[in-house]
Amino acid sequence: MLKKKEVVKAKCKAEEMIRKAGIKIIPKEAEKIDVADFGLSNLNKEGAQILTFFNTERVSAKVIAMFSYQTMPEHWHPSVKDDPGKEETIRVIDGTLYMYIPGEDNMQYGFIPEGKDDCYTVRHELVMKSGDQVTLEPGTKHWFQAGEEVAIFYSMSTCARDLLDGFTDPDVVRKTEIAE
Ligand code: ZN
Repeated sequence: MLKKKEVVKAKCKAEEMIRKAGIKIIPKEAEKIDVADFGLSNLNKEGAQILTFFNTERVSAKVIAMFSYQTMPEHWHPSVKDDPGKEETIRVIDGTLYMYIPGEDNMQYGFIPEGKDDCYTVRHELVMKSGDQVTLEPGTKHWFQAGEEVAIFYSMSTCARDLLDGFTDPDVVRKTEIAE
């Protein structure tokens, strides 16, 4: 659960970060930035600010702004009926993004949020900077963390069905609840 005040503040900050990264957005879009705490009520530690430019039955484009050391919980995009699941390309625009995927544990720069060892199981670290990109096959577990500054990146993918995503942390609720 997030407080309305917290959401407004995070939205403003994310809007500023996106603009500073050189991505032009109009006020109507800024208003639509989704401040997601994944039901964990600890936005600055585990959360993300997501602006969806469009999401059709076939293609989706988003820009994601993450605050310093903010972590997006480990998740994967499962198959839905005859769709194999979301294939996603992450491309960093500004800042540093630590990206975690399956493979050899070489974690060096990022960290597991305190007490959450069981919720972050893939530990192959990619250090991504402006211009770096990676494509994730459907069903691949992944999570990200912003570096000391911030991280602004595009998520370009096939159709996003966020509410059906799988999360390792059983406490995650994808739909953000906002209290007055
Ligand atoms: Zn994803």
